Amino acid sequence: MRHHDLDRRRQQATRQPAPARRTSNRAVIVLAVSAVALAAAIALVACSGVAPAITRAITSSAGQPDPDDGAGSMTDGRFGTADGVLDENRFTVDDVELPGIANLDPDLLEAVRQATEAAADDDITLFISSGWRSTAYQQHLLDEAILRYGSEEAARQVVATPEGSSHTRGAAVDIGATDADYWLIEHGSAFGLCQTYANEIWHFELATTPGGECPELLPDAG
Ligand SMILES: [Zn+2]
Repeated sequence: MRHHDLDRRRQQATRQPAPARRTSNRAVIVLAVSAVALAAAIALVACSGVAPAITRAITSSAGQPDPDDGAGSMTDGRFGTADGVLDENRFTVDDVELPGIANLDPDLLEAVRQATEAAADDDITLFISSGWRSTAYQQHLLDEAILRYGSEEAARQVVATPEGSSHTRGAAVDIGATDADYWLIEHGSAFGLCQTYANEIWHFELATTPGGECPELLPDAG
């Protein structure tokens, strides 16, 4: 993950003062490149909240490492797994110990499970990069978008309010990676799963009956 690496370098660059003159130019370049990466990362997370790993790289201090699978170290600012924070492209419908997945609507979870099995036949893995989110975490994502876009009106076109978000109701999943998104756009309706926003190819909800037709896309989450 390129941005992730850049941001990690940025953290190193900002935390460790350049030890000598000859490295300072490099530090300046790294900082400049990282500023671009930071802006891109904020734009991404504002779009969807689907990029928690990126903001995590920017904002997190150390979480507590989990000896089992590392999941306990997932944080996005002051938010963690209990708020639904998940790493991108790492977990599947089987990772039901994680609240972001466990708190999904059971019907949605079952549909994603069936789709995951079918996708595996095509050598595609459906990762759940975001599922259920706490209202506080959703508000945090909206607040970040407001900072980024300068107004609540602009922000709400890319991030829903806690009241309006289907994620806080456990009724939406953000699926990765991109190959999985396109697979699910093509095959999801067989399981009742539909892309719902034209500007979010990763966001799926139970929006039709299995085998039915998906409703017309809304332009965005606003
Ligand atoms: Zn979503």
